[in-house]
Amino acid sequence: MTAGSMTSAVHSGGLDGSALRLVAFDLDDTLARSKCAIEPDMARALIALLARHAVLVISGGNTEQFRTQVLGQLPDDPVLDHLHLMPTCGTRYLRREEGAWTQVYAHDLDPAARDAAVAALEQVAREIGCWEPDEVVHGERIEDRGSQVTFSALGQQAPPDAKAAWDPDGSRREAMRSRLAPLLPDLEVRAGGSTSVDVTSRGIDKAYGLGRLMELLDLRPEEVLFVGDRLEPGGNDHPVVGLGVGTRAVRHAGDTLEVIAGLLASTGVAATGPVAAP
Ligand SMILES: [Mg+2]
Repeated sequence: MTAGSMTSAVHSGGLDGSALRLVAFDLDDTLARSKCAIEPDMARALIALLARHAVLVISGGNTEQFRTQVLGQLPDDPVLDHLHLMPTCGTRYLRREEGAWTQVYAHDLDPAARDAAVAALEQVAREIGCWEPDEVVHGERIEDRGSQVTFSALGQQAPPDAKAAWDPDGSRREAMRSRLAPLLPDLEVRAGGSTSVDVTSRGIDKAYGLGRLMELLDLRPEEVLFVGDRLEPGGNDHPVVGLGVGTRAVRHAGDTLEVIAGLLASTGVAATGPVAAP
């Protein structure tokens, strides 16, 4: 891919790649289609970028999604030492150390908050008719994911068709969310997937995770570029704008490949080394 093939919507013009020390990416609809693995061309582009810059992937998805969508698609290469992974918006942080992926930290809900969330989820679900009979529930209704408690009305292993039919307009999830919020004032309650409601610590978003990594690596905002598909106000990438970092809006992985190509072209000569491990 050449600079000439870039569209005006995603051009990398004006980017001084040589001054960048970290390139951060959203995952779903930025590096890959939602919940899908990254494609081989994206894996190659990331490996090339990792030879010049530290790279962060940050998403609301859990560690398991990172393993299947990202890590499972990358070759075992020493440049992966410059890759930083932040599942669940940076409440968890993974790095490769001596060839093995290790969790640097996990900031989980404290036990009292977690127990309160579990109790409130069951209470509200029963009150408004969202506690489905055992016969139609597949797997756990309430899952403790450490940094997040998730209610799944039909269970974690429910068939996709049944999940899709449970709350097509989102009104049942919104009814749960609006009743739960005042019961859990210190926690954040959000409608999640098609049958789920998520409870997390307050103030956890992508700015939280990226901000933590900037502190750990001692990065200034002008040394960081964030690439994401939901940078507009209200989008789940928008909070990073408040950090003052550079941003590039993309629509899909194809746009992201063009941004990476532009970065590689601009840093072909004057590349700074990747950020070392903290
Ligand atoms: Mg996205």
